[in-house]
Amino acid sequence: MCAIFGIAGADEAANLTYLGLHALQHRGQEGAGIVSTEGTKPFIHKDRGLVGDIFNSEVISKLKGHTAIGHNRYSTTGGNTSENIQPFVMKGSLGWIGIVHNGNLTNAETLTKQLEKEGSIFQSTSDTEVVLHLIAKSQKRDLREALVQALKQVDGAYSLLVLNSSFLVAVRDPRGFRPLVLGYKEGKPVFASESTAFDLIGAQYEREIAPGEMMVVSLSENNSISSFFPFANTAPKRCVFEQVYFARPDSFVFNSTVYQTRKNLGKQLAKEQPAPNADMVIPVPDSGVYAAIGYSEAAKIPFEMGIIRSHYIGRTFIEPRQSIRDFGVKLKLNPVSEVIRGKSLVVIDDSLVRGTTSKKLIAHLREAGARAIHLRISAPPTTHPCFYGVDTPTTAELLAATNCVEKIRSFVGADSLGYLSLEGLLTVASEKSGDGFCHACFSGDYPCPTSN
Ligand code: 5GP
Ligand code: SF4
Ligand code: MG
Repeated sequence: MCAIFGIAGADEAANLTYLGLHALQHRGQEGAGIVSTEGTKPFIHKDRGLVGDIFNSEVISKLKGHTAIGHNRYSTTGGNTSENIQPFVMKGSLGWIGIVHNGNLTNAETLTKQLEKEGSIFQSTSDTEVVLHLIAKSQKRDLREALVQALKQVDGAYSLLVLNSSFLVAVRDPRGFRPLVLGYKEGKPVFASESTAFDLIGAQYEREIAPGEMMVVSLSENNSISSFFPFANTAPKRCVFEQVYFARPDSFVFNSTVYQTRKNLGKQLAKEQPAPNADMVIPVPDSGVYAAIGYSEAAKIPFEMGIIRSHYIGRTFIEPRQSIRDFGVKLKLNPVSEVIRGKSLVVIDDSLVRGTTSKKLIAHLREAGARAIHLRISAPPTTHPCFYGVDTPTTAELLAATNCVEKIRSFVGADSLGYLSLEGLLTVASEKSGDGFCHACFSGDYPCPTSN
């Protein structure tokens, strides 16, 4: 998963982009970058690490101009190396072009091989660079047309911002896997993966960029915006996992408030998977909090913060190495034994992927005196890997790919285990957003080919 942010025609564009990326840090913590322009050349700064460490006022003051785009990286395709940090900026017959991308192109490997055969030289292993090479090869003399021609050759998930000295283009793939929203800051257009970035910079949320929509901001025409639908009509397949886990709860994503959706998932979970005679509902913080509030409300079982999370380390899952992840669980989540001793607990988490977090946590809860542990998950079993921009593990590492619920229960050491049904998830998610979700990681029902 990654985050993108862009703003056109604003004073302090790079500074606002920095703040936007800060608000979107949860979507990627491996690297970040910004490219800005005052209408002629690009100014770029990118590095590995967190937004707050990469940028300071001196760096930002060098990112001149009224238009900027930025990116937070969370490695999916391509490794965690500095060449893969975005924005990518390339010079070609159309002048310089900068790009930031959230999503994953499913035919990138085939296209890369083809382009290399024809003489393109790749500087990174990222799928995003493919789009730049396709633009560079285009005979079209205008960025908008070259971009459409390039995107008609790719498949998979992309929410993109593309910048050159004339245009800022925002585009979402026809299925709209990843979110992308439009807002205005003092009349200037702003684009972000999630609306929470607008809250921080005082921009007004306008609307979601529709799946398959391309919005072009003309930098030389007072930042006027036009909207196009250049691709064949396709049924939307927005990522339901954004609602379950990825998006920030204070964001408005796919036309619904993530907080409310998660709470409703918890209510639905309480209906489907009751835990009679439990003494309290406790979340696995932070991701399980909102579903736990809903579960507690619906089941009329008191809510307690029986596990405290240290906020001084990142999301454990985001660390690519297993050894670090294991260590992270101990550091990150600590049961409050005064609260849970002798009690029967309903423990709520948003998803169960490898089971490493849950297994260790349940052991800690027992050490701290819990009498019984009923684990409830506000999503269905994660049975399939994602090929559209979320770094779910391979099938071999996915606990539910090869194990039934009873086996998983016994592996994690819970007294009982209950998941939300796929039907329940989709009913809740579509209440505000309408139908049209991707749910392949829970169903294996992939909306488009998964590899080259
Ligand atoms: P497990 O118990 O399967 O080891 O880990 C489940 C935890 O990982 C859940 O608390 C969930 O919030 C988190 N999680 C699920 N999917 C992802 C993901 O794609 N990235 C990150 N960072 N965390 C995830
Ligand atoms: Fe989202 Fe899962 Fe579909 Fe990937 S497979 S896009 S995580 S719903
Ligand atoms: Mg979690």
